[in-house]
Amino acid sequence: MSRTVIHGGLVVTASDEIHADVLIEGGRIAALAAHGTDAATSWSADRRIDATGMYVLPGGVDAHTHMEMPFGGTYAADTFETGTRAAAWGGTTTIVDFAIQTMGRSLREGLDTWHAKADGRCAVDYGFHMILSDVNESSLKEMDRLVAEGVTSFKLFMAYPGVFYSDDGRILRAMQRASGNGGLVMMHAENGIAIDVLVEQALAEGRTDPRYHGDVRKVALEAEATHRAVQLARVAGAPLYVVHVSADEAVDEIAAARHKGLPVFGETCPQYLFLSTDNLAEPGFEGAKYVCSTPLRPREHQEVLWRGLRTNELQVVSTDHCPFCFSGQKEMGRGDFSKIPNGMPGVEHRMDLLHQAVVDGHLSRRRWVEIACASPARMFGLYPKKGTIAPGADADVVIYDPGAEQTISAETHHMAVDYSAYEGRRVTGQVRTVLSRGVPVIEDRAYVGHAGHGTYLPRGTCQYL
Ligand SMILES: [Zn+2]
Repeated sequence: MSRTVIHGGLVVTASDEIHADVLIEGGRIAALAAHGTDAATSWSADRRIDATGMYVLPGGVDAHTHMEMPFGGTYAADTFETGTRAAAWGGTTTIVDFAIQTMGRSLREGLDTWHAKADGRCAVDYGFHMILSDVNESSLKEMDRLVAEGVTSFKLFMAYPGVFYSDDGRILRAMQRASGNGGLVMMHAENGIAIDVLVEQALAEGRTDPRYHGDVRKVALEAEATHRAVQLARVAGAPLYVVHVSADEAVDEIAAARHKGLPVFGETCPQYLFLSTDNLAEPGFEGAKYVCSTPLRPREHQEVLWRGLRTNELQVVSTDHCPFCFSGQKEMGRGDFSKIPNGMPGVEHRMDLLHQAVVDGHLSRRRWVEIACASPARMFGLYPKKGTIAPGADADVVIYDPGAEQTISAETHHMAVDYSAYEGRRVTGQVRTVLSRGVPVIEDRAYVGHAGHGTYLPRGTCQYL
């Protein structure tokens, strides 16, 4: 069995910060030992990695990506190959992507399609959630089988009427099923029926620029849908995970539910923490780069999101990575913001942006690792295989240089998209080396991985229940 030793670094997990050497054997963490002890110095190894002055982190777990996702007549620009490579560059070693059930088709067919897209192409490990677009007797039954085989979370939409939208009755049925089979319902909580009325009115009045995308997707309509999702989950006796929370009032709904002891969880994304409606209002058609749903909010919402992350009102930061090129894709919405494909690139920069939040004093180091690695792994049944550095865990390890300075730019990023939402932003901290199951994927800032190294991860059920 091949053995690797990482020595001299500060091992940071969600629970500890310890100066320890790490022994990796056959793709898994075999042992930790205090740096400089006889135990640590006696380890023989095929490879030694000097992590002096570095953090040694568990690989990031991004529980919300959309590689090659069809949307509005086009496809998200990253394939599983380019997207997982970019993830590795940014210190993320596991993604959970969304397989889509097409209206009128089975869950199985959707899942098979996504397996075919990802199989043999990923640089790092991956799992799938299932998007339920057509809740009916047979898809409800299929949910049980999917949970049993490792697809244990199901996303429903209160937005996008005519595409992914489910009405309250369908949502309730899916939640009832999840309460019986151990599945976790993930909710896109925005009142899409009301939003569509506002979109129609805005366009009729000539308000067609990208910034009106943010205008019509009201805070109240995110908060209302979040409230309704919580009540439906409560009636069904099911847990609920609200994806991409962006509005302060939606955080309040989640906090209130948790205060009552309900199993309600919330996720936010870097774009809501670092960007705002100011970006959507950038001149020309530049705002289109920042069109995603839920939308970016006015700046003052950011402090509520940071507070939510600190106080565990929100548990996870994922990216909702769903990149569309500015040229040819975002441009489809010139003159009509409703035709701008919804989504932003981000899978490569989540760990760095959240480290910047550590530097800025929003988060502790351990909380950084918790919301980016450990909690998503626990939430989606991957812990402790993923999300921590402990004996027995997969050796998904990031050697992170906390003092390195970098400037985020489309010129240097590895995502297959022609712009960066963070163009020109200076951040402190950078990934040096990344191991996936003990195998180097990034080595001293060079990509040494390959498509097909990443394997599919059947998942257990949510570990917070
Ligand atoms: Zn999404």
